[in-house]
Amino acid sequence: MSVDREESQTPMDETERLLGNGTVLTMDRSRPILHDGAVLVRGSRIADLGDRAELQHRYPAARWIDAAGGVILPGFVNTHTHLFQGLLKGLGDDRPLYRWLRDMTAPAASRLTEEHCEAAALNGALEAIRSGTTTVVDFMYAHPREGLTDAVVRGLQAAGVRAVVARGFITRGVDLGVPEALIEEVETALADVARLRSLHAGPADLVRIGVAPCLLWMIDQDALRATREFATGQDIVVTYHLAETSFEVEYARRTYGLPEAQVLEQAGFLGPDLLAVHCTKLDGDDIERLVARDVKVSHNPVSNMYLGAGIAPIVAMVRRGLTVGLATDGPASNNNQNMLHVLKYTALLHKVAHEDPTAMTADRVLEMATIDGARAIGMADEIGSIEVGKRADLVTVALDNPFAAPVHDPISSLVYAAVGNEVRTVLVDGRPLMQDGRLATLDEERVLERASSAARDLAVLAGLPSRLERQWRRYGTE
Ligand SMILES: [Zn+2]
Repeated sequence: MSVDREESQTPMDETERLLGNGTVLTMDRSRPILHDGAVLVRGSRIADLGDRAELQHRYPAARWIDAAGGVILPGFVNTHTHLFQGLLKGLGDDRPLYRWLRDMTAPAASRLTEEHCEAAALNGALEAIRSGTTTVVDFMYAHPREGLTDAVVRGLQAAGVRAVVARGFITRGVDLGVPEALIEEVETALADVARLRSLHAGPADLVRIGVAPCLLWMIDQDALRATREFATGQDIVVTYHLAETSFEVEYARRTYGLPEAQVLEQAGFLGPDLLAVHCTKLDGDDIERLVARDVKVSHNPVSNMYLGAGIAPIVAMVRRGLTVGLATDGPASNNNQNMLHVLKYTALLHKVAHEDPTAMTADRVLEMATIDGARAIGMADEIGSIEVGKRADLVTVALDNPFAAPVHDPISSLVYAAVGNEVRTVLVDGRPLMQDGRLATLDEERVLERASSAARDLAVLAGLPSRLERQWRRYGTE
């Protein structure tokens, strides 16, 4: 990894950077859009914003970052992924979830090494930077050996992105196809979360540790109770896959005689620190349970479509005041980590679900991808909008390409017309990770080579079919 010395930064760094020549989308309710605006960054914080000409006059010595007539906005918050799956892109396409899990993801997850996890995290961080994501929530549930969450953290730290790395775990499910190698005792998992937290607790640490019991049929109720006891009062993100498919709905009724949200409520698991992922199969009563406990929601529309899981009732959730952030989900069910794609899919999915083009607007999805995502992980006071005093997690997106131009409405161009590779500059905590398309913290070629090599190695270890064995698939149209 090459770190540009000039751009390296200490907590005392008072370097001033002025981002301008673009439309500033602040995502601050009091003044959302500044035409020909500028943002002054001092060290790791946003120090001023306003009219470009005024700010250029006020801060003549600041290093100029040109947005090239595009937009300047807060970096996206990707509220859910599994970065290790970056090595599995394309291996699980076009099959039901149980076969996706049994035949591909589970065998691979049970053979992961530290090198696989670090290489995948670096590749995922590269995707994040290239598509304007500054914060990633990684749900790391596969622990066939020790040290794998540490490897994910190392990859993200080398890239310099902000992250919540939620140390996940699985306590049961062998009867339903979970490999023995992935089963852990809840005490072991929570002790590892505590160890990781002690390593990444500093105020300047861009990586925070979270805790992630995997999903209903992989977790027993005692583990849910233990997680709640562990998390309460600890200022830690708790995240969990809730009601993703009809299988979880059936499992909850068969095993507990209750809807899943009620099972969680009985275990005392619901709370404002819980980031519930998917929520595809929730009904009105379930939503009220989430509202009553101020549970946060992570919406993963591309993954839900890819796996045929269903359409999460996001419009109803938002109307009831729930905080909903957006996410890619893991690259084995997406298959990339491009949040600009997620924005467009979110708007389109809910328009078609409601047969109403007003059901989800471009402005609304932009809120979900930024400030609401920040709120979903308890960081809305620090990131998610461009306001003086907040952390300088900022991106610029050029819109002068044939897909996005001509630009009448920058928000429309960003959400509906951009193809996802227009991001030019990315700052996290004021530090440039990419400037004018040039990466500052990662050697792209080296990251891609390392991920490809790790992916080949993992596929062989997991006995996954090579590309030479690929069959033509027409299922639904046979
Ligand atoms: Zn997931």
